[in-house]
Amino acid sequence: MLPIVKEQFRKRRYHRQKAHLILYALRSRAQDPRVEAIELDSYRDLLTKDFGITAAVNPSSYPFRRFVGELGIEIAPARGFCSTDQVWQEYADSVKKLKLEDFYRKQRARLEILMDDQLPAGGEWNFDDQNRLPPTKEELGVLGPWLPAEDEIDQQVRRELDELEKTGVRFIGKDGPRKFAGTREQALQALAHFIEHRLDLFGPYEDAVDQRNWSMSHSLLSAPMNLGLLDPLEVVREAENAYRSGKARLQSVEGFIRQIIGWRDYVWHLYWQFGQDYVTNNSLAADKPLPSFMIELSEEGLEAKCLSHTISDLSENAWLHHIPRLMILGNHSMQRGYLPKQVNDWFIDAFVDGTPWVMPANTIGMSLYADGGLMSTKPYAAGGAYLSKMTNYCSDCPLNPKKRVGEDACSFTAGYWYFLDQNPDLQKNHRMFNAYAGLRKLTDLDQLREQEASRTNF
Ligand SMILES: Cc1cc2nc3c(=O)[nH]c(=O)nc-3n(C[C@H](O)[C@H](O)[C@H](O)COP(=O)(O)OP(=O)(O)OC[C@H]3O[C@@H](n4cnc5c(N)ncnc54)[C@H](O)[C@@H]3O)c2cc1C
Ligand code: SF4
Repeated sequence: MLPIVKEQFRKRRYHRQKAHLILYALRSRAQDPRVEAIELDSYRDLLTKDFGITAAVNPSSYPFRRFVGELGIEIAPARGFCSTDQVWQEYADSVKKLKLEDFYRKQRARLEILMDDQLPAGGEWNFDDQNRLPPTKEELGVLGPWLPAEDEIDQQVRRELDELEKTGVRFIGKDGPRKFAGTREQALQALAHFIEHRLDLFGPYEDAVDQRNWSMSHSLLSAPMNLGLLDPLEVVREAENAYRSGKARLQSVEGFIRQIIGWRDYVWHLYWQFGQDYVTNNSLAADKPLPSFMIELSEEGLEAKCLSHTISDLSENAWLHHIPRLMILGNHSMQRGYLPKQVNDWFIDAFVDGTPWVMPANTIGMSLYADGGLMSTKPYAAGGAYLSKMTNYCSDCPLNPKKRVGEDACSFTAGYWYFLDQNPDLQKNHRMFNAYAGLRKLTDLDQLREQEASRTNF
């Protein structure tokens, strides 16, 4: 049975394209004659009326697990990951400190992925040092992503969302042609297209941000995987086959597989490992509410080209690759002290692939360092030097990445130094030694403090 609860969209402000994809996936699934879809006003209706439900797959969030527990039905193990709770627990019990790299290597060996005679293919576990190229001068020569042809269900969904808006439901972001797979068949097409045309260049440019190319060589498969339309193991097996058949280079295939059997599973297990209160961590005592440009997803009035283009891309596509998420939006949110829980919830609502389980480790831990270092050994704080290397925004920006004070001071460079200055406890972290040595050498710190304390625009 498939419950469809459109009223969920009234509770929070979702990106319109996220709401579209979810409703499209549900409506498409409901076409299957074996599926009985029921429209409900609230999931709680399942508690008060008898729909004959006897079993459910364990949901992927704390609130839904609590809710399904109340139904008193049989619960099957959660699906959609490459490792079970037991595999994770054995790993977690065997180490003093949880580390993605260790977990990833165990996964590779256990699942026998990219292994030759029990050794990593190519003799290395990791090719990250080859995978950090900045954007190319000429546009990256890669075929665009697979895009669905919209169908009658898309039109129906669009009408339904329009109707909801008339009754007061408020979305953020632009409506637009759907860009992500919403059925199993589409997901397989998207996977095949990525493997055939895009995987080979995934590695070298996975961290590069190019304003001319919104998706670079990324797979756009997070949404179909998170919706349960693709099994992550089938995705990595296809990627491995591409390496074995000479279709894609090892550095790309390894980098891609690491994202899935490594990062994706790691983040999933951390959601349960860290517990439901993890999301309320705020170790840097951040206290600013989210700015309206994030809440409304509007780039209007933003000066910083990197920030305005990122917001506009997000509004356009409901998706960004990991570097704009981490090093532009996450970095900005940490530098400016936005409330971590608000940042976390905003990311869930604004991104097509956002889910409660995926976000805490990525926002509270990795982007904001709000967990005091449980997830990362140091804050991912960066100024204009990093962004001018890994993006091509700065040449089109009225601000100067090298300047921290003055009319044309880069808000990321100034924000970086101000962040260090405002969080002196971070000096205790030995990995921040060089950063604070740099801060102590600044001769214009008073001027920078005054400028940043009164900053109203970015
Ligand atoms: C602040 C922040 C927010 C994020 N929000 C989400 C989110 O809402 N949903 C989501 O699925 N991923 C999220 N990620 C992880 C990553 O950015 C996205 O998975 C990726 O950009 C999705 O695009 P893609 O499918 O083209 O990924 P690719 O670059 O092609 O990577 C392949 C796959 O690896 C997995 N993956 C890679 N990194 C991570 C990670 N850190 N956590 C979990 N999975 C990972 C994803 O399933 C992804 O599809 C977030 C990362 C950060 C730093
Ligand atoms: S100069 Fe600074 S604000 Fe402008 S695009 Fe570069 S990093 Fe962003």
